[in-house]
Amino acid sequence: ERWDVVVVGSVNADLVVGVDRRPAPGETVLGSDLAVHPGGKGANQAVAAARLGGRAALVGRVGDDGHGALLREALAADGVGLDHLATTPGVPTGVALITVGPDGDNSIIVSPGANARLGPDDVAAARGLIAAASVVSFQLEVPPPAVAAAARVAAGAGGRVVLNLSPPAPVPAELLARCDPLVVNEHEAAFLLGGERGDPRDTAAALARSGPRSAVVTLGADGAVVAGGDRVTAIPAPRADAVDTTGAGDAFTAALCLRLARGDTLEDAARYAVRAGAAAVRRRGAQSSFPTPTELPAP
Ligand code: ATP
Repeated sequence: ERWDVVVVGSVNADLVVGVDRRPAPGETVLGSDLAVHPGGKGANQAVAAARLGGRAALVGRVGDDGHGALLREALAADGVGLDHLATTPGVPTGVALITVGPDGDNSIIVSPGANARLGPDDVAAARGLIAAASVVSFQLEVPPPAVAAAARVAAGAGGRVVLNLSPPAPVPAELLARCDPLVVNEHEAAFLLGGERGDPRDTAAALARSGPRSAVVTLGADGAVVAGGDRVTAIPAPRADAVDTTGAGDAFTAALCLRLARGDTLEDAARYAVRAGAAAVRRRGAQSSFPTPTELPAP
């Protein structure tokens, strides 16, 4: 059984409250009604790939609590393969505590919970699944040893490794060398290159020379720049009336992975991915904003 995209990553419940202002230390403020949404970068990318018509599966961990059940249900509703979504008893499912200020600005605390228990044993159990994937996608919300082990399995089986450097953290050289591409936003690129923001084309070229096989820098409304070999290509984004950019990066990366799995060049895959990213900013939320193929803006 072949899979287009297997995601090894996080599953979080997003707990969202709106506030007029943030409390000072020791202070209490009243907020809006609590909203609970399925999230986590790993789950988001698996859902986004499945909604675009891909065969997608997720390797991850949740707790045996209500959030875990909710997240499982959301993933199953989109047809994500869940044979290797494990449950850790007695540990809470990962949560992101999100306060939204009056200007729509988010402050986020992530409590990894069960995500932090994903380990090399889980990768060993999912070896057959990972080896059967055209593309294996990673972010950094699960422990580095699990990511490193899974990338080794994927590369050994001839799969293509895509890594999203989110949240930013140092990447071991062995893992970086497998990335084709490494996907970063400008903030994550600056973290890796240690410099000021410059021309995005130079940034992408510098990243591609720093270890990965290829690199993609996403630029919000300005689209993305792709660098691989000695080619650097700017990919403009379709114009979109942005309502909420949450999940744009996950939609972009999932769409990129899907098209790479189907045999597109990196440039062509990025031309498709900017359409998915643009679609995702037109609706609120993360998973709720991900498009089906018919909802993509014209190229
Ligand atoms: P986020 O953290 O909000 O999910 P990110 O910082 O990881 O996003 P961005 O570069 O902001 O990533 O966005 C990813 C992609 O989504 C962009 O490359 C672009 O294709 C698309 N996108 C984002 N914002 C817009 C916008 N305002 N208009 C059109 N496309 C957008």
